[in-house]
Amino acid sequence: MNRHYKTYIPFLIPFGPYPSINQIYSTPPHLYMGYQLPSPLQLTPKKTLRTRTLLNPYYNLLRPTKRSSSQWRPLHHAQTITPHKTSRNPLFFHHDKGHGPSFRIPDEGMLPETAYQIVHDEITFDGKPKLNLATFVTTWMESSADRIYAEAFNKNLIDKYEYQQTTAIEERCIRMIADLWHSPRPLKTMGASTTGSSEACMLGGLALKRRWQKARKKQGKPIDRPNIVFSSAVQIVWKKFANYWDIEPRYVNITPNHPFMDPEGVLAAVDENTIGVVSTFGVTYTGVYEPVEKIAKALDELQSRTGLDIPIHVDAASGGFVAPFLQPDLVWDFRLPRVKSINVSGHKYGLVYPGIGWIIWREAEDLPEDLIFHVSYLGGNFPTFTLSFSRPSAQVLLQYYKFLRLGKSGYYEVQRNSQLVARFLSNAIQTMGPFEVLTDGSDIPVLTWRLKEGYTSNWNLYNLSNQLLTFGWQVPAYPLPPDMENVTIMRVVVRNGFSMNLAHMFLKNFKQAVSSLDSLESPIPDHTNCDISIRH
Ligand SMILES: *Cc1c(COP(=O)(O)O)cnc(C)c1O
Repeated sequence: MNRHYKTYIPFLIPFGPYPSINQIYSTPPHLYMGYQLPSPLQLTPKKTLRTRTLLNPYYNLLRPTKRSSSQWRPLHHAQTITPHKTSRNPLFFHHDKGHGPSFRIPDEGMLPETAYQIVHDEITFDGKPKLNLATFVTTWMESSADRIYAEAFNKNLIDKYEYQQTTAIEERCIRMIADLWHSPRPLKTMGASTTGSSEACMLGGLALKRRWQKARKKQGKPIDRPNIVFSSAVQIVWKKFANYWDIEPRYVNITPNHPFMDPEGVLAAVDENTIGVVSTFGVTYTGVYEPVEKIAKALDELQSRTGLDIPIHVDAASGGFVAPFLQPDLVWDFRLPRVKSINVSGHKYGLVYPGIGWIIWREAEDLPEDLIFHVSYLGGNFPTFTLSFSRPSAQVLLQYYKFLRLGKSGYYEVQRNSQLVARFLSNAIQTMGPFEVLTDGSDIPVLTWRLKEGYTSNWNLYNLSNQLLTFGWQVPAYPLPPDMENVTIMRVVVRNGFSMNLAHMFLKNFKQAVSSLDSLESPIPDHTNCDISIRH
């Protein structure tokens, strides 16, 4: 047996008004074991006293011993501390608990409330999610969503046979999204839920690679030099994909004239070894939509000229749940036959807490069969194509909840509201003077701006970012990718929960930050290494 393991021996404090041993053993175990304590706030004073009193024996046994060597030492009763002190407030009364952060698992445990308090206190130093304007990811859901979360947090999504209704709900979400994106056969096609767009992109890329390999083998051609084409403003996951799966990345650089991947650039980059073109629908840096339809048309023409048939994957991490509601006439999805797969983050404009993503293939044939595994050892026989095995299931249920709760009209209202807030802010920032707005939320509700050239040499957007942080607002400043890397921009992602009310408060603080920077008489030193950029 593990030498750290001790049996529970109740230790009675020899003075009153503590209960007798009979009373202790007639008490439900959760009271004297110290676990699952009701919050003291919910107890009457009398009950509080009783619960806390009964905790003492257990607490004494859990006191860490002083270690003079690496040997574990048994506890001595002489080391016990006065009961009322420890029981009243085990963290703040007890100097032993006052050590710094742990980098080793402690030898002994502590009371649940003590551990809770330590973790709780530490994370109060995190930024406030509501004021985090850097992230695309949902930071607010209504309280009924929290109830679903709590009802599902012990269910593993991969246990498809054990939790068949959860599996059915996941399946329904796939059909709903396939339909939303105009798959020709939404009830038959393939799709999967994932931890986020990153996993979904990996799956989409792998399907492209396998499809290309098969076609090349059939023609008796080599398959050793695959490449993939995307914009220099592509999200980091695609660079990872190319790196991890040994595929040459080919970048179409953005320029001031086309701050997104343009069809000419794509045509110049593709060849017979191109497994696919990835078009970003809602560019992370700026929020603009890449012109998927034009790129598809250019590749159609290429095919009619040369016979090269190059598929498109649309990375619609953010746009996939915006465009169908705000720009329903924009053609970017499976209405274009060349678009073979699309991913989206359910936890971005899908309005669900992190982490949920989705990938849908246009038709079942677009996902090579040999990538699908059939899992039988959990009972039943379920096809899966994911990188993770175990995963929480709550997010899938929340996605379904969101679809039911909002409907298409509700999604329209929510996204429209975010767009109005983005427009309001971009107008206000443009009219302030120092800034030039680059994107105003017309595509996805994201606005970006730069400092006008020659406005000041005393401060820059990194300094402004730091200044905003003093109010609690987290707004990243960062350079654009090649060929626009000498332009620094600032970005605000407007999400459900960032109300017009908050936008007014943000604007007030924003103006205060700018005027305090404007009052500087000389440059802030070291401004180049303040990059706190956070780009999701
Ligand atoms: C956010 C994002 C990703 C990564 O998505 P996660 O859901 O965070 O894994 C990929 N591509 C684009 C365009 C994104 O905006």
